[in-house]
Amino acid sequence: MTPIKTVAALIDEGLTAPGTRATLENVVARYAMSITPDMAALVDRDDPGDPIARQFVPSEAELAAAPEDRPDPIGDAAHSPVPGIVHRHKDRALFMPILTCPIFCRFCFRRESVGKGESALSPEALAVAFAYIEAHPEIWEVILTGGDPFVLSARRVGEIARRLSAIPHVRIIRWHTRVPVVDPSRITDEFVASLIVPDATTIVALHANHPREFLPAARVAIARLIDAGIPLVSQSVLLKGINADVDTLEALMRTLVENCIKPYYLHHPDLAPGTAHFRLSIKEGQELVRSLRARVSGLCMPTYVLDIPGGFAKVPLNEGDVEKTGDGWRIRDQQGNWHDYP
Ligand SMILES: *Cc1c(COP(=O)(O)O)cnc(C)c1O
Ligand code: SF4
Repeated sequence: MTPIKTVAALIDEGLTAPGTRATLENVVARYAMSITPDMAALVDRDDPGDPIARQFVPSEAELAAAPEDRPDPIGDAAHSPVPGIVHRHKDRALFMPILTCPIFCRFCFRRESVGKGESALSPEALAVAFAYIEAHPEIWEVILTGGDPFVLSARRVGEIARRLSAIPHVRIIRWHTRVPVVDPSRITDEFVASLIVPDATTIVALHANHPREFLPAARVAIARLIDAGIPLVSQSVLLKGINADVDTLEALMRTLVENCIKPYYLHHPDLAPGTAHFRLSIKEGQELVRSLRARVSGLCMPTYVLDIPGGFAKVPLNEGDVEKTGDGWRIRDQQGNWHDYP
């Protein structure tokens, strides 16, 4: 089976009703669509609110513009010194060698650039990006993102990893990817071997949003990475209608830890255009996170973060649990009760 990339294929697969065709053609003309066979097979055709379908099957709601929408919701453009690099924090830089993904999430925060036009950096642009990293000895960690860098071949991934590890100040190479869950057959032994390089530590940050994404093949792909000695952390996006309830979040975090993945970030949804139907309020998010903490160990807890629009970076959203009082502080517990703290 091949990825679903057209509305006709979506209808053939029973993932949308034939009557939605004209509308969805408009949606996919604006925001790219691709659904991997693994994820298409996982959709429950009988459930109109299926959380897998909601992540990947386009919907009419994406054509609605909300006043708060921003084309560059996290303000990356303001911090991009050369194409393919975003350098906002001194010790770490994002490096985007390719702006495509094996699957396109309907809530993607980079949906205005991912899956459109020129997708891979040219060899010349790659050379400029490596030269930028070389010229900035304060860059300790390089975060490969995109798009999804794991769509590259084992050979190309290996080349990037080796060129980075040859730069003495680059100690950590972190790969952000969704591939081990959405297209696990790409994670071959050869691919995993290409990630391991001398003189730098490889870390993988896996994007997963729902416990059902962890099919047996995905678990095998994750185990291959772990067995090669690569630590895994997770990133999830808190999304209305997908995982914004405490039972799903609990199951997701437990599934991550059971698969040797440390929950790292739970992202408040970004203000990407046409994604208002996935958003919830910060207060709702904080309440969910508090309920989650009442159920699970610290090991299962991600940090709930917001990327402040305008390029002001990520902040943990737990400040609301700490308030200044006359002669000290007050702190809110998991039940929502306040306690004085000197
Ligand atoms: C999220 C992000 C990073 C990574 O930051 P961590 O909080 O260390 O995971 C780096 N640069 C930019 C621009 C980011 O948005
Ligand atoms: S995997 Fe990440 S970059 Fe790719 S479509 Fe999903 S959210 Fe966007």
